[in-house]
Amino acid sequence: MEPLSKPKKLMPTGVCWCGCGTELGVGSFFSPGHDKIAEAKIIREVFGDVAHFVAAFGKAPGDARPIEEVLVTIANRARLVQALRQLDELREVISGALVEAQVGGTDAKGA
Ligand SMILES: [Zn+2]
Repeated sequence: MEPLSKPKKLMPTGVCWCGCGTELGVGSFFSPGHDKIAEAKIIREVFGDVAHFVAAFGKAPGDARPIEEVLVTIANRARLVQALRQLDELREVISGALVEAQVGGTDAKGA
């Protein structure tokens, strides 16, 4: 099956795209083997496991959904994952602010 559209040209950034932080030479996106690490990480984060990843793309046996429907499902899933990530960040900010407020409150009483 052909890709739906030609992917846009990407430029290496000098560090491994798996997230390990390894500095790379010109022209490389990944340290050797780290492309698989990045792939597995995204599949796990977005789909949970490979079976759900395959099913999400309409490739489970017997799945005859049109590709448009499959793509909408995947786009919604990606938006959900992003929203949950933002929610986690917000939770951390709020809990940090609460801890600061409590510490501040204790200091104020003690002073
Ligand atoms: Zn890496």
